[in-house]
Amino acid sequence: MRRVHNFSAGPAALPLAVLEQAKADLPDYHGIGSTILEVSHRGPVFDNVIEQAKADLRELLGLDEQFEVLFLQGGAQTQFVHVPINLAARKPGGYVVTGYWSNLAEREAAKLASTHIIASTKTDGFTHIPAFDTWTMEQELAYVHIATNETIDGVEFHELPDLPADLPLIGDMSSTLLSRPIDVNKYGLIYAGAQKNIGPAGLTLVLVKRELLKRCDSKLPNMFSYAIQAAKDSMYNTPPTFSIYLAGLVFKWLLTQGGLTAMAQINQRKAQNLYKCIDASSLYNNSVAISARSWMNVPFTLIDPNLNERFLEQALARDLVGLKGHKSIGGMRASLYNAVAPESVDALIAFMQEFEHKA
Ligand code: PMP
Repeated sequence: MRRVHNFSAGPAALPLAVLEQAKADLPDYHGIGSTILEVSHRGPVFDNVIEQAKADLRELLGLDEQFEVLFLQGGAQTQFVHVPINLAARKPGGYVVTGYWSNLAEREAAKLASTHIIASTKTDGFTHIPAFDTWTMEQELAYVHIATNETIDGVEFHELPDLPADLPLIGDMSSTLLSRPIDVNKYGLIYAGAQKNIGPAGLTLVLVKRELLKRCDSKLPNMFSYAIQAAKDSMYNTPPTFSIYLAGLVFKWLLTQGGLTAMAQINQRKAQNLYKCIDASSLYNNSVAISARSWMNVPFTLIDPNLNERFLEQALARDLVGLKGHKSIGGMRASLYNAVAPESVDALIAFMQEFEHKA
């Protein structure tokens, strides 16, 4: 069996143990005579799958009953819209713009609700987190939205602001959720597309404080309402059953790895080693402020862009895949999610050093 070193930003690498388990479960799930793909989402077999997945996720994140866990669809970008229509009511939603995704989140929200940009690093090329004391928060806001990790720009919040108790923090955690422990109580709502650290594409996780559900307008279409989705246990319509099952296997795998504290240690070391290689070189460059560098997505450029194609070709020849940067900023990007083994990062670093020597 061939497994490449997969640095894709998403859909991304999944743990081999999870894939093997899924393969073993496929033709005949636990002796029921069919696959998990073929059973009703309302029957006892799937009920067990979703309840176990929820319980394991709660254990991993230390989520208490204040939070609802919703398994939705539509990707993180649907949440760009669901957050304002459910939670903004009469006040504007506040946005901190630190990269491509939080910028788009604000632009999308502004189509249906009023927004206020609290701080933005756009003119600085999205290379840092704006100091909390520069955030403009004088006006009344419905919430404060941040992208805790900018997947394209490689900018991550390593600290969170202290907000007033009645001002919920909303986190787009698509590319960082489950990569390390988080203080969930700092948030009113967290959302994440699954296709990085959680499982396959098609599932969107929303963790929302129950008290915020009171804000959801009853005139919202049912599919768009967090309150309805919570009341119906994420089964208002047919949920993405296979993606939920697979995410459940990922949660179990994370628990066997020692949970998020253990993942954080591994992830921090992987990222540090790669940044060290970039900083020591005169060919590669990462322009993000050290205090804001992402553990999950490491974008870098080659000083001579004419070498880009050769870099990617030679990397591919070593089974190092998914390194091409996002089209919006170009260059390279290595995504170092949970399922990317330290050995894969070591292989990338060895290749980068060798490529530089030859260049
Ligand atoms: N937010 C962030 C931080 C992301 O990384 C992405 C996807 N890479 C999105 C939003 C959009 O996600 P989706 O494709 O699931 O809508």
